[in-house]
Amino acid sequence: MLIFATMYTLVTIHLGVVLASLYMHRYMIHRQYNVNPYVESIMKFGYWFLFETVSKEFIVQHRKHHEFSDSTVDPHSPRFGYWSLLKCCLIPGFFRSYKIELSEFDYNRYGGSIKPSFIDRYPRLGVSLFLALTVSIFGWYGIIIWLVHLFAVNFLTIATITVFGHAHGYKNVNLNDYTTNLMPIGILCVGEELHNNHHYDSKRCNFALKQNEFDLGFQYLRVLNKLNLIQFK
Ligand SMILES: [Zn+2]
Ligand SMILES: [Zn+2]
Repeated sequence: MLIFATMYTLVTIHLGVVLASLYMHRYMIHRQYNVNPYVESIMKFGYWFLFETVSKEFIVQHRKHHEFSDSTVDPHSPRFGYWSLLKCCLIPGFFRSYKIELSEFDYNRYGGSIKPSFIDRYPRLGVSLFLALTVSIFGWYGIIIWLVHLFAVNFLTIATITVFGHAHGYKNVNLNDYTTNLMPIGILCVGEELHNNHHYDSKRCNFALKQNEFDLGFQYLRVLNKLNLIQFK
């Protein structure tokens, strides 16, 4: 049972990170590829079930972050409070709504064409259903698995993208910001480790720039592309 519980936790964490990176970050925010509508619905459902955040707020603040990275109007730069931002990124959206100051102007400029979806209307329902499923399989231990899942997914995505990727590691490209690549091999965070490369060209699907770098998320996208489920732009 312990082995099954461990496998279940690792698989759901990985799937949550994959959906946050491939669906929310690369597709919804940066529109790096086109996707078959059925696949898009499956990705959206999976993201809602395993991750959870108010998607429109997240899209608007991240697009603004790219335009004003590490400047005083960046909605989330660790340069203006590393520990307070890290603390906020580690708390899953289930316990705290993702509140970063955004104006009406920001919503129109960065998210005008995005229609709110069921994720925005019922942001906590998906992970609540995931909790119910996990408890039905593992009993009350399911609550521990669910908590580990939520914190790990937040750690490997939001904390990596917004905190570690602007503070630790190396640079390939000198940009007008503090972005870094945490490590050349992007497996745990499915390529989000290569944040300096991503800021260099946010439309590029492959976050790896150099020969020794590897972006696992891009390899998954290549498989979906081969199956004709997505098309690179
Ligand atoms: Zn981005
Ligand atoms: Zn960034």
